[in-house]
Amino acid sequence: MKTKITPQERMRLSVLLKLDEAVLQDLDKLGLLDSTKSRSYLIQAEYKQITGQSKQLKQYIVMQLARKYKMSISAIEVIIYSKTVNKHCSCKVCQAKITKYKSTKNGGICDDCKPI
Ligand SMILES: [Zn+2]
Repeated sequence: MKTKITPQERMRLSVLLKLDEAVLQDLDKLGLLDSTKSRSYLIQAEYKQITGQSKQLKQYIVMQLARKYKMSISAIEVIIYSKTVNKHCSCKVCQAKITKYKSTKNGGICDDCKPI
């Protein structure tokens, strides 16, 4: 169920991406603006903004976002904690998928292949 991006969302997106709103509107018209991905981006940005500004409980922020975007709490959680956000890397030795964090920490090698 892909819902079109709303004018308000497009406006916020243009601010966040520092892109002219007219450009986004054109892209949207041509079907080149992925509403699901754009919305995920907005939700992630908003979540970061709120957690940076206030000490509200994370669960409470998730609830607020769910209400605002008329999405389920689990859908919001998937967006916020999504692994696809943290780009996955693969181990240089065994090709297993590892997180960017681990890759940076271990020099591109998974825990199993890391020399002790
Ligand atoms: Zn490995």
